[in-house]
Amino acid sequence: MPSDQPVPPADGLLLSARGLHKSFGDNHVLRGVDLDIAPGTVHALIGPSGSGKTTVLRSLNGLETPDAGTLRIGDLSLDFDRAIGRRERAALHRASAMVFQQHQLFPHLTVLGNATIGPIRVQGRSRDEATEAALALLDRVGLREKADAYPSSLSGGQQQRVGIVRALALQPSMLLFDEPTSSLDPELVGEVLAVMSELASEGWTMAVVTHELGFAHEVADRVSFFDGGVVVEQGSPEQVFEAPQHERTQRFLQRMR
Ligand code: ADP
Repeated sequence: MPSDQPVPPADGLLLSARGLHKSFGDNHVLRGVDLDIAPGTVHALIGPSGSGKTTVLRSLNGLETPDAGTLRIGDLSLDFDRAIGRRERAALHRASAMVFQQHQLFPHLTVLGNATIGPIRVQGRSRDEATEAALALLDRVGLREKADAYPSSLSGGQQQRVGIVRALALQPSMLLFDEPTSSLDPELVGEVLAVMSELASEGWTMAVVTHELGFAHEVADRVSFFDGGVVVEQGSPEQVFEAPQHERTQRFLQRMR
């Protein structure tokens, strides 16, 4: 289990978003998104390209700021109808950690350097403590022997596993995955999904934007289907994949088969 879980709100949710709106210029990308995530659960965000999934995920991590709506994560409450200050944005950024589609590792740092720079520079932890924690995490994803290697010498799957270690090293309350396997060669997808499944079974709270519907079906506790900037349908994987209620969900799933 993650060590630093903030106390969930009284309703038992770790995260609750209501009425998120976001426009980029004239492009009204989020049109009132609601999302609830209970602690220790995996929430898959699925749907066609351009439906707003990544924008929601980035909003949860403070990388985008919605124009309207509210967000509660742990004991932090934000109301986007008013201006969000730097401190609030930083607190939001700290509450979760993102694993990106492209791993975005620093090429000039070793694997260990990538996994310790956040804890040392941003969180002020000692080098010894950060190194010990990072080595233990690298061990867990089978990459301890690569600690002194540079990212360019690793396979895409290994790089993405380092990306996951870097997120875990920040000891966030939840993990956000933005299509973590979509830039990988097909034969490398499995090793990354395996690490994600393991984290899910260890009790990490995770929000995952993914086109890997098999993974979502198997590992997610809840699935939200996005289309046109709203959650069209939300339910258990069985409900959404096996008995979708909405015609747009049905059409999307048929196309993906
Ligand atoms: P999805 O993850 O479902 O593919 P996104 O959230 O990435 O959807 O994108 C939704 C829409 O928002 C797209 O039309 C995309 O071009 C637009 N968009 C996303 N980020 C930006 C940005 N930083 N600036 C301008 N437009 C953006």
